[in-house]
Order: sequence, then structure tokens, then C-alpha cells
Amino acid sequence: MSENDGILIDARGLVKDYPMGEEVYHALRGVDLTVRRGEFIAIMGPSGSGKSTLLHLLGCLDTPTSGEYILDGTPVHALSHDQLAEVRNNKIGFIFQSFFLLPRANAMENVELPLIYAKIPPAERHQKALEALQFLKLGTHARHMPNQLSGGQRQQIAIARALVNKPALIMADEPTGNLDSATSAVIMDQLAGLNAGGNTIILVTHEPDIATYAKRQVRIRDGKIVSDDMGRTAKKEEPRA
Ligand code: ADP
Ligand code: MG
Repeated sequence: MSENDGILIDARGLVKDYPMGEEVYHALRGVDLTVRRGEFIAIMGPSGSGKSTLLHLLGCLDTPTSGEYILDGTPVHALSHDQLAEVRNNKIGFIFQSFFLLPRANAMENVELPLIYAKIPPAERHQKALEALQFLKLGTHARHMPNQLSGGQRQQIAIARALVNKPALIMADEPTGNLDSATSAVIMDQLAGLNAGGNTIILVTHEPDIATYAKRQVRIRDGKIVSDDMGRTAKKEEPRA
């Protein structure tokens, strides 16, 4: 057994520059982050601090200008666009603030999408999508279109879609940003429940209340990590009932 056992994310010196005309905007200025399997991390910071940029790099949606990123043993910083897409599809489930459901596909078809990318045959796909929906107690909504569902239900469909592949990592960028506080609590309880079941979760939020659901809080400011409690101030060891 090596000392790296259990490490899912190992990012060193991540830099992301965006060209802005003649200038360069330094969105990330050297981020080091290690995440072990089973962690639930909140990345916090003010608007514009680089949270989404970091999540995009960690989620293989984008590549760093410089730095190293080892995800689940694979050095992903040097992969091609197509290779990154494959890593994303196999290892990561995403949940975004604005849900990103296909408007003309029903709940079940939306949940099946990652399985279609993964070339899973239809019968198995339907079965897995239904199980994911049932897990979120949305089985009776399988044939509903997104516009027939509430915001909270839509986000739950997105959670089912993020889970359906059994990814190594679930990433959520402001998942409650479009929801009222009662619905936000439902969504966060579900994420906490997934973490209790063994899923590794990285959550981006600027809301302190939402961040308390995580076991570890990492703060970012001006493209750098300014604090990382490494789980020392975990308030909630168990998901709320
Ligand atoms: P946060 O999610 O913390 O609000 P972001 O990571 O979205 O912050 O953005 C960090 C900074 O990088 C912001 O100033 C933003 O304007 C800039 N930025 C983000 N994406 C791009 C891009 N594609 N091109 C240029 N600048 C960008
Ligand atoms: Mg953001």
C-alpha cells in the first residue's frame, strides 16, 4: 500500500490565465489541493474569486494554463479534448445551478444521457435511470418533462443524472443558487446522504449556510486558496434526517 491510497484528486500549482485583449487575467494563481475518497468539500469564496474556474479544471471541463492534476491516478492536465471528455464521462457527475436539463426530453431520458455517451445498451440504460430516479423518490415523475416539474424536482433530476454512472466524484457548482431555502435544504440533505453512502463530493458555494453541509471548507480569494480547514471544523458528521 502506498501513501497515495485513497487520494482521488491531487492538484499542484494550478494556474488558469484568460486572455483579455492585450492583457491576461489570472483567474487561478497556483492552487494546490488534495482530496481523498469519501470527502465532502465546500469551495467557498466571493464572486469572481475563481471557484467555478477551479471546479472546471477539477472536473476536466477545461485544462490549466500550467500545473499538474492527477485524478484517480491519471495525469489529466496533459490530456486531449477527447480524452478529457472520456474521463469526465467515466469519473465525474456534474450538478449546476441552472440544472441544464434537455427541455424536450423527459426526466428519464435526461437521466439516461451519461449512459448514452457511455454506450450502455437501451434496456440497461432504462433500468439504471429508473433506479437513480427511484433513489431520489422521483420514480413517478419519470415521464414528466422538465417544465412539468418544480425547480427542486428539476435539480433532483440533475442529481439522478450525475449519479447514474456511479462516478468517482460528484461536483456541484452553486446547486441551490436558484432554489428557495426549504428546497435548498432538501437538495443539500440528499448530497449529504450521498456522501454518507461513500460518494466524494466537491461543492462550490458562496453561501455559508450551504457550506456547513460539507465536512471540509476550502476558501479561495483572488485565485488562491486562503484557508483549508481539512475537516477540522466539521459540524455535521451525519446527514440530517
Ligand atoms: P467565481 O465562480 O468564484 O464567481 P469564476 O471562476 O467564474 O469565479 O471567475 C474568476 C474570474 O475569471 C472572474 O473575474 C471572471 O470574470 C474570469 N473569467 C472566468 N471565465 C472566464 C473566461 N472564459 N474568459 C475570461 N475571463 C474569465
Ligand atoms: Mg461561479
